[in-house]
Order: sequence, then C-alpha cells, then structure tokens
Amino acid sequence: MSDVATQTDSPPEMERHEARFAVLDSPIEGRGAFAVKFIAKGETIAEYTGERISKAESDRRCEDGNPYIFNIDDEWDLDGNVPDNAARFLNHSCDPNCEALDYDGQIWIEAIRDIRPGEELTFNYGYSLDDYRDHPCGCGKPNCLGFIVAVEHQEQVRRELVERPAGDASEKEQ
Ligand SMILES: [Zn+2]
Repeated sequence: MSDVATQTDSPPEMERHEARFAVLDSPIEGRGAFAVKFIAKGETIAEYTGERISKAESDRRCEDGNPYIFNIDDEWDLDGNVPDNAARFLNHSCDPNCEALDYDGQIWIEAIRDIRPGEELTFNYGYSLDDYRDHPCGCGKPNCLGFIVAVEHQEQVRRELVERPAGDASEKEQ
C-alpha cells in the first residue's frame, strides 16, 4: 500500500481533455504511461482515481496482490484498479519524474521535473518496509534498489541488502 505526502492547499486545476500521456508497452513492466508532449516541472498530469474502500476491504485486496491501493487516512483507502483510472498505468521508479500528492483524499500525479515527449512517466509507489522483498523493481535506473519502497526507507533497505543480499534466504528475519 502506498503512502503519499499530504497537501494543505486545494486540488490542482486541470484541463481533463488534454491527454498528457499515452499507454504503451513499457521496458519497466507491462504497460506504462509515456509523455506525448513536453510536461513542465510542477504540472498536474492526472488524478489517480479509484474506489474508496474501508481498511478491512483494503487489507483483503492487498492480500490478493492488488498493487493499486493508496492509504488515504486512518479510515479509508483508495483502490485505483478501476478502468477509468489511466494513472494506474504509471510504473514505479527508484528515480521517478513524477510524484503522487494527497489533496484531502484526492490523489494527483504531478511532474517533479521537466519531462520530454516520449519519456515514461513514473512515481515512487511509496511502499512500506513490510515485505518489500515481495516487490522487486525493474526500473533500470542507476540508483535502482531492486525493490519498490518509499524514499524514506531507501537508505535502510540499502543497508539491509548489504547485510543480507537479495536471494539469500538462509538467514532469518530479525
Ligand atoms: Zn528501481
């Protein structure tokens, strides 16, 4: 499940008719979202829409392997696995060009640097440290951790991987 930074200002305005990306085969995984025009740093790309679900329902869907669930607050989560949520095609990257921001329960994807046409749009899925080894990353960036994990946990994971490299199942969890 993803945690995102909470914003205090109002949700961004966006011209919804104006497609900023196309969904194509991705070298990272499956299909991805690729910029079809220049996108400036700070520009809003899409709302990450979905179904608002309870924590209990969220737990059930996470256990089923649903990777599209965002943590909204203590009571609700957002399941982005719905057909009209084009933002679900954005892949995770360890060196992303977008980020997901929480505007009072609405998740918006915004560019964190200038993006050229043809670049794949990515954000950090912000997964917790729980069972990160079940979520390998294939982003291919020079700084790729090999696993999908939130930025704030990346240093810890780097240390853990030195002490206990991926694929080494001989040692127990502490
Ligand atoms: Zn990576």
